[in-house]
Amino acid sequence: MLNKNLVMVPGPTPVVESIKREMGRDTVAHGDAGFVKEFKEAIEGAKELLGTDGEVFIIAGSGSLAMEMSIANNLKAGDNLLVISHGAFGDRFPDIAGRKGVNVDVLKAPWGEIVPLEEFEKKLAEKHYDALTVSHVDTSTAVLAPIAEIGELIAEKSPETVYIVDGVAATAGARAYVDEMKIDVLFTASQKAFGVAPGLAILWAGKKSLARRAALGTIPEYYCDYEKWIPIMHDPSKYFATPPVNMIWAFREAVRLIKEEGIENRYVRHEKQGAAFRAALRELGFALTASKGHEAPTLTNCLYMEGVNDAEFRKLMYEEGVTVAGALGEYAGKAFRIGHMGNADDYDMVTALTAIERVLAKLGVSVECGRAAGVYMKRMTD
Ligand SMILES: *Cc1c(COP(=O)(O)O)cnc(C)c1O
Repeated sequence: MLNKNLVMVPGPTPVVESIKREMGRDTVAHGDAGFVKEFKEAIEGAKELLGTDGEVFIIAGSGSLAMEMSIANNLKAGDNLLVISHGAFGDRFPDIAGRKGVNVDVLKAPWGEIVPLEEFEKKLAEKHYDALTVSHVDTSTAVLAPIAEIGELIAEKSPETVYIVDGVAATAGARAYVDEMKIDVLFTASQKAFGVAPGLAILWAGKKSLARRAALGTIPEYYCDYEKWIPIMHDPSKYFATPPVNMIWAFREAVRLIKEEGIENRYVRHEKQGAAFRAALRELGFALTASKGHEAPTLTNCLYMEGVNDAEFRKLMYEEGVTVAGALGEYAGKAFRIGHMGNADDYDMVTALTAIERVLAKLGVSVECGRAAGVYMKRMTD
């Protein structure tokens, strides 16, 4: 009998009660005065959270739309883009930008590792790049990129390059401040570390990116054009396309919860939970995909030990009440991915760990039940 299921994939993440209540409210017209005010609060809240004096765009869509939006508004055909790829999500940018006729160069790290900063520096010295993209956390490898250092490097060596950060599996869970870290574009989706259901693309654009957009004139894209949305983000009583009313309420509540927790406290909590979770998983005998020192605080990818079958493991996990995700690319079939971001708390983490223990025991792997949960809790209470 399955009557509970904890979703621990790297998005969607657990949705807490107060956010669910916002999604369940009676929908009002998007011109409703109360909604207009609440939309405004969501926009202001998101801007303030990550610190930019540019713009924030909150629109219906998923993270992939935000990826496209970042390219659409900052590059035109013939421009040069440098893609730093730490896995499958980094690898999407050449496709997105290639379709526009942008020239793309890719610096790729071996899976599980990061591209060293010296390589960025060399590349930026060789050629003028109009933009650079990097995933803050690439969900396929669970690798964290040093986004602040990259921002410094670009500001120093190639200040005209627009710095685009894919924060989809990181933002609101891994430390990011837009203007302070010299990021020009940062984006995410509602279902990751904000802990809302899927449905929103959220993009922060700093002054440099806004100037770049203005210089491009008319762009081929319509729905994700900054210029269509800027009037709405300044005054949500205006109309361009119908906003997803209930999702915006839910996002506003997510922002409120983050402010209540404190964004810096939230980053520290993610680091602490992530480290404790990794220690517990190693205790169970898993090897992790991310190389040492580059582990994401928001998700972990575990390589199976000898004799464990991916499909069987994940099916049993589901039956034990916890959904985990399969791995991508080079790790497909060899690892599973487990999210621990957003509003996932000790309750969820311990539940996931004990389910993993039960499943491993069923699969004949020698485990001492309660051990991983013990390691986790000990680290969290130390
Ligand atoms: C999930 C994810 C995306 C894609 O987001 P969708 O909401 O699934 O479209 C992009 N980049 C990264 C790093 C992600 O984790």
